[in-house]
Amino acid sequence: MNNPSDALPEGIQVTAVRAFQDNYIWCLHNNATVVAVDPGDAAPLLAFCREHTLKLGAVLITHHHRDHTGGIAKLASVYPNLPVIGPAGGHIRGITKSVDEGDVVRLPTLGCELSVIEVPGHTLDHLAFFGHGVVFCGDTLFSAGCGRLFEGSAEQMHHSLNKLKRLPDNTLIYCTHEYTQSNIQFAMAVEPGNSALQDYADKVNVRRQQDKATLPTQMAREKAINPFLRTHCDEVCRSAEAHCGAPLANDTAVFAAIRRWKDEF
Ligand SMILES: [Zn+2]
Repeated sequence: MNNPSDALPEGIQVTAVRAFQDNYIWCLHNNATVVAVDPGDAAPLLAFCREHTLKLGAVLITHHHRDHTGGIAKLASVYPNLPVIGPAGGHIRGITKSVDEGDVVRLPTLGCELSVIEVPGHTLDHLAFFGHGVVFCGDTLFSAGCGRLFEGSAEQMHHSLNKLKRLPDNTLIYCTHEYTQSNIQFAMAVEPGNSALQDYADKVNVRRQQDKATLPTQMAREKAINPFLRTHCDEVCRSAEAHCGAPLANDTAVFAAIRRWKDEF
């Protein structure tokens, strides 16, 4: 495949289409074709295609949750033979091509190739798609947070986040939900001494006051402010131990403790 740190080809951009309360359907497109990630609802995506005279060329699915897959049937009826690429297992209706770790998704109409990274934790089938300096990671990594553990273990999620953390620092991270502001509240409880986090909170508050998206975020920033990527840091470890009232043996135990803490925060 292309060098994974290559930028997106000229003329290709990523645009957010809003759905439900706080979902983004990320659209990778040029001026003719769109590839949409996790269309939980067909209607706003079809409106976006109509408004910009774009044809839906393919759909990528990160995991089986309804708010990521609910639009597939309608989109496939509007665009017959639509490629729908996502997790294997046959549990998601409408997937036409299943992929797993290390597979490369070729999007010839956009001149893009994305490699598949398995990231179980939020769900067991969860995938991320990475290439050209961008990653679509569904509900695994959020800005200043991470997905809830619905199916996987804390060990699995921690391992998955560490896989994402090894992507280049300038990787742009396209997560599905606008959770940044509330995630920051929790991150500040874990790491009140993190000045980069305080600066980021100010920027995010301004963007949200203007009803602007806080995404994509960037890997370098997340490494500096996201407590779930900072389980090796002293303050994160000390806060986790203080919260659960017991020493924690390793990074994974710290991760598990702050994930549980966030669930009740
Ligand atoms: Zn989900």
